[in-house]
Amino acid sequence: MGLFAKPSYTYVEVILPLALAQEYTYVLPAELRDLVQPGHRVIVQFGKSKYYSAIVSRVHEKKPPFEVKAIETLADEEPVVSALQLEFWRWMAAYYCCTTGEVMQAALPAGLKISSETKIVFNEAYEGDFELLSEDEFLLTGALRNRSEMYLPQVQELMGRKNVYPLLRRIFGLGIAVSAEEVADTYKPKTEVYVRIPAGKSSHDLEAAFEQLARAPKQAELLLTFLKLIKNRNYVSRSELLREAGTEVQVFSKVVEKGILEEFRAVVSRLGRFHNEPTTMPPLNDAQSKAWEEIQKGFETHQTLLLHGVTGSGKTRLYMEQISHTIAEGKQVLFLLPEIALTAQIINRLRTVFGDQVGIYHSRFNKNERVEIWHKVMNGDYRIVVGARSAVFLPFKELGLCIIDEEHDPSLKQQDPAPRYNGRDACLMLAQMAGARCILGSATPQVESYFNALKGKFKLITLTERHGSIPLPKMEVVNLKKFRKQGSMQGLISPPLLSAIEAAMERKEQIILFHNRRGFARYQSCETCNEVYFCPHCEVSLTYHKRTDLLICHYCNYKEKRQAQCKRCGGTSLEIAGSGTEQLEENMKTQLPSARIARMDLDTMRGKHAMGNLISEFENREIDILTGTQMLSKGLDFDHVSLVGVVLADQLLFYPGFRAAERAFQVLTQVAGRAGRKEKQGRAIIQTFDPENPVIRQVVAQNYAGMYRDEIALREQFVYPPFARMIEINLKSFDERLVEKAADKLLTLLLPQLSGILLGPSEPVVSRIRNQYLREILLKFQDHRLLPLQKKIVMECINEMKADKIWRRIEFVINVDP
Ligand code: ADP
Ligand code: ZN
Repeated sequence: MGLFAKPSYTYVEVILPLALAQEYTYVLPAELRDLVQPGHRVIVQFGKSKYYSAIVSRVHEKKPPFEVKAIETLADEEPVVSALQLEFWRWMAAYYCCTTGEVMQAALPAGLKISSETKIVFNEAYEGDFELLSEDEFLLTGALRNRSEMYLPQVQELMGRKNVYPLLRRIFGLGIAVSAEEVADTYKPKTEVYVRIPAGKSSHDLEAAFEQLARAPKQAELLLTFLKLIKNRNYVSRSELLREAGTEVQVFSKVVEKGILEEFRAVVSRLGRFHNEPTTMPPLNDAQSKAWEEIQKGFETHQTLLLHGVTGSGKTRLYMEQISHTIAEGKQVLFLLPEIALTAQIINRLRTVFGDQVGIYHSRFNKNERVEIWHKVMNGDYRIVVGARSAVFLPFKELGLCIIDEEHDPSLKQQDPAPRYNGRDACLMLAQMAGARCILGSATPQVESYFNALKGKFKLITLTERHGSIPLPKMEVVNLKKFRKQGSMQGLISPPLLSAIEAAMERKEQIILFHNRRGFARYQSCETCNEVYFCPHCEVSLTYHKRTDLLICHYCNYKEKRQAQCKRCGGTSLEIAGSGTEQLEENMKTQLPSARIARMDLDTMRGKHAMGNLISEFENREIDILTGTQMLSKGLDFDHVSLVGVVLADQLLFYPGFRAAERAFQVLTQVAGRAGRKEKQGRAIIQTFDPENPVIRQVVAQNYAGMYRDEIALREQFVYPPFARMIEINLKSFDERLVEKAADKLLTLLLPQLSGILLGPSEPVVSRIRNQYLREILLKFQDHRLLPLQKKIVMECINEMKADKIWRRIEFVINVDP
């Protein structure tokens, strides 16, 4: 091969958006041979008649020993996935024991995954000018308008060619059609007329146009306004231009007729814009300045820092300092948060400083918005992305900094479906691959992270004081046993908590009451025969919801009407036991009839805007007492909350799993941290039946180090992370005997090959969900270097069983780092 010979290739390996164990080989038609690269989206036929958009993972010359199909067409001119992303997908599949197809499913926004089942629906709300359309666009628009909906193969037939994807993209982009899923959302894109410099011209050419407009002062004025507005962007909306220029549309049309400006219609960005002038950040206080210096020094020796700072100490302020330095270097920033902490508060805080450079990414965005963000990250319009865990999949070009706030939060981990990845760990890997710096932040770091920091893997930076030297909330414990015995409980509230609430209300301060269980009561039971009502599909008792008068399963959402008589013995004396947020709210309403009380939990926060509305009502002090579940504890800063009450801490302590103590410490600290953030010290009251519990005492003493010391000793003794890595294998089936047999079989396959500790098979705490019986096997590995091999063995054993039709009705779920 000559020195300058172009590498040539004929075959491609593609990733299909399916849980297939492998990638598939296709041959390239001659005309595409020089065009296709890894990361390109191609359309392939798979199976008899299905078409999918697949991602090219490799190109090569090795002729496979079997017949392969040709790819149908190239979907876009440029690759949509970078080499780095492909590497990241491969890592994720291998690490979390899933397929690259499953990673692709999670990574690519649905809008980039056209398949033969995608329905294309005419948008009745489209009010654009049909004359502006190209011939192809016009043809398809006409057909869509007549038939109102079409499938991909019909479009291909109409156009007389396979490659209709660029055309479809334009049709979607113009808002002429939408795909079927969005229609189900009753979503109609809104379009607007925009103005830009005509193709092939520059703003220089426009300056020359002023001569042309010498006798048309209104038009010249409009052009001048346009040039001012366009400084930092590529186009402006016509309405904005007319408003700014203070002129009417006729003037504008003349300028367009002369070919000086060009108008086009496009979907209004649903991402919203930030209009105000960016403001500067307040200067760092002394403790923050010192931490900032340590951060700079830390990055000289470490790629990753752990910022351990109490709530309100200014972690976010420091992130923002580092962000501004990173974007000044021309690099991009990924700011990861638990979904629920991604509130308007943090977004506004970033936007006031960084303006439109901030993009937001989370699961509440619809398909088109996600595609839009994808492109804006890829072309660099967004310098900063604040997002929930799935933001790790965005196509950053030059990632310079990753921030993972609330890094201890369990919701950073995806439970279902695969890839069951932890956003924090995936982000750390992404940062490593991209050569980006990383800051993990928390007031209560995860035990493993703190361990890594003490070992020197991460650089530890500590902030111990709240900004403004406001002391942390004063913590008190209330022994419920005592007040129960006295019979002085007012429902769920003890006398000391009640008087604290009354005192705070008198001072016109706000109160948060935390209860970790939604619904009204834990369960209903019969006093005569002791029958407890269980879900018919799951092995859990039903929770009573009073407002709807329903018994509901919190695992599968099964509902039944509450009966006045026991289903078993006909007894009429039915009792409810245990309590939930609904009962708490009702309690408070009876106790304090004059108070304005609201509740924030999954049941009350169903609508899209429910949460935002409630938060602003609380901020505006239209609510005195906010009750709710953990939703309350994250990402919200309220200025006038002086009292936080934890109704029953014990629930947190008995959480199943080895992290119970750590979690309880984290949640209680975080909830208490909502008290007294501005100006003055707050107060937190924790009610419990177990006041001597070490975790409760550590929370009260704000003793993270103590909790860590106790925990790490136990973890070492019982071989849990960070002293071992864990893999949990879950088997599910509608047939209990079969799932038992399958679990035993899997264990016998694994035992001779694995070099770790195998536990189980056992029944999980909830052993049946949605009528599926569950068994679990837990693997622990002390030597992490063996992990890749061990994971391979696990996959092979499971694939071996999957290949056998006896086990066809078993579902296997592998959860790495559960
Ligand atoms: P954390 O992220 O650790 O909870 P924040 O950065 O949110 O801390 O800071 C807590 C509060 O104190 C916020 O309301 C923030 O605006 C304010 N604050 C923090 N640092 C400063 C500073 N240097 N100057 C003025 N206000 C600050
Ligand atoms: Zn159920």
